[in-house]
Amino acid sequence: MDLDEFRSGLDAWLDEHHDELVATSHDPGDLAADMAHLSKVKRMTFDAGWMRWGWPERVGGLGGSTLFRAYLGEALTGRGLVEPGVYSMTEVLAPTMIDHAHPDVAAEMVPKLLRGEETWCQGFSEPDTGSNLGALACRAVRDGDVWRVTGQKVWTSLAQHSQRCVLLVRTGTTEDAHRGITALFVDMDSPGIVVRPIVTMHGREEFCEVFFDDVVVPVERMLGPEGNGWTVAMELLPFERSTALWHRGAYLHERLDTLLATAEPGALSASEVGAAWAKLFAFRARSRMTQHRMASGDKLGPETSVDKILLGTAEQTIFDLVADGLAEDVVLGDDAESVRWRSEFLYSRAATIYGGSSEIQRNIVARRLLDLGADR
Ligand SMILES: Cc1cc2nc3c(=O)[nH]c(=O)nc-3n(C[C@H](O)[C@H](O)[C@H](O)COP(=O)(O)OP(=O)(O)OC[C@H]3O[C@@H](n4cnc5c(N)ncnc54)[C@H](O)[C@@H]3O)c2cc1C
Repeated sequence: MDLDEFRSGLDAWLDEHHDELVATSHDPGDLAADMAHLSKVKRMTFDAGWMRWGWPERVGGLGGSTLFRAYLGEALTGRGLVEPGVYSMTEVLAPTMIDHAHPDVAAEMVPKLLRGEETWCQGFSEPDTGSNLGALACRAVRDGDVWRVTGQKVWTSLAQHSQRCVLLVRTGTTEDAHRGITALFVDMDSPGIVVRPIVTMHGREEFCEVFFDDVVVPVERMLGPEGNGWTVAMELLPFERSTALWHRGAYLHERLDTLLATAEPGALSASEVGAAWAKLFAFRARSRMTQHRMASGDKLGPETSVDKILLGTAEQTIFDLVADGLAEDVVLGDDAESVRWRSEFLYSRAATIYGGSSEIQRNIVARRLLDLGADR
């Protein structure tokens, strides 16, 4: 199958199944409904084969270019069939499992994620550790054939809906810094785990605090050897800034089109609309290049920080336009569309924080791409 065949076949299938694939609930506060809908869309696209293209056969895929995955998510988010935030976890976590989990664990688990039977979360950030991830303190101690984990994570997206977590823990001393971090794949129903959702300012329980009290994790659930956690994190983050962002760009494109189609004539400033398009296209052009580099087998790295900066800037510019052009509706409206615009405007403020803040991305660009000196 080549990309053109994939696109035309998928588009025809999505047209045919549109009524089954479209969400019935449009309440941005109803995350549970979004998650149930996401599972349904993933199951349908997996069973019809579309979700399996672009993934290795050893984890239930059908092989082929990663561009198939880029297009599937683009089509689903661009048509409004899935919300890109909840869809993104597949692209962030499945590649990491494929590269670092024991092959038997990856073969058993990844198909469950692709088919929407399970949700997974990413346990990296802690109350005192976000940008300075290397200082994380959630500790695991080896006890025979298991690790015993004690500590806390925070901002863990979708943890309350997740069956598994890709978790970074400290297994060495803090002096070991990056070398003392290990990555584990943890069952969220293990005794000793408590999940407390946090309500965001856009009214969704999108992320959580997660507490670990002497939680037992078998050693075969390590992702790579002991002390490999920093490598796992550094290889995961570029995935968070590649295909998942491409999908988000398709969704932003659709929302900008909708805004222009619905705003009253004269409500939007032509120069601000132009600026929003320019930023969105700058992001999409950059991200398109990233998708093609990934498809040709290039290892993604710190250069994906440029994609993340452009995405955050484009997203906030678009929703600033919404807040200006539809100001009264966005601030005061109670109808479903106004509530949705308001929720998206508020969430857009997070675009320069999640997946690494824009300041940190600029530091990476300065230090690692432009060689402008060490961080102070
Ligand atoms: C919607 C959302 C979803 C998230 N989901 C997850 C998830 O699923 N899993 C997970 O592990 N985490 C998640 N996070 C957490 C996210 O990764 C962190 O919020 C982010 O890395 C910033 O860390 P922090 O919040 O601790 O802020 P801090 O690191 O305390 O930063 C505070 C401010 O200081 C700035 N700053 C910090 N250090 C520097 C520096 N050296 N130079 C210049 N400026 C600096 C930052 O840019 C920021 O503006 C999520 C966050 C959001 C908003």
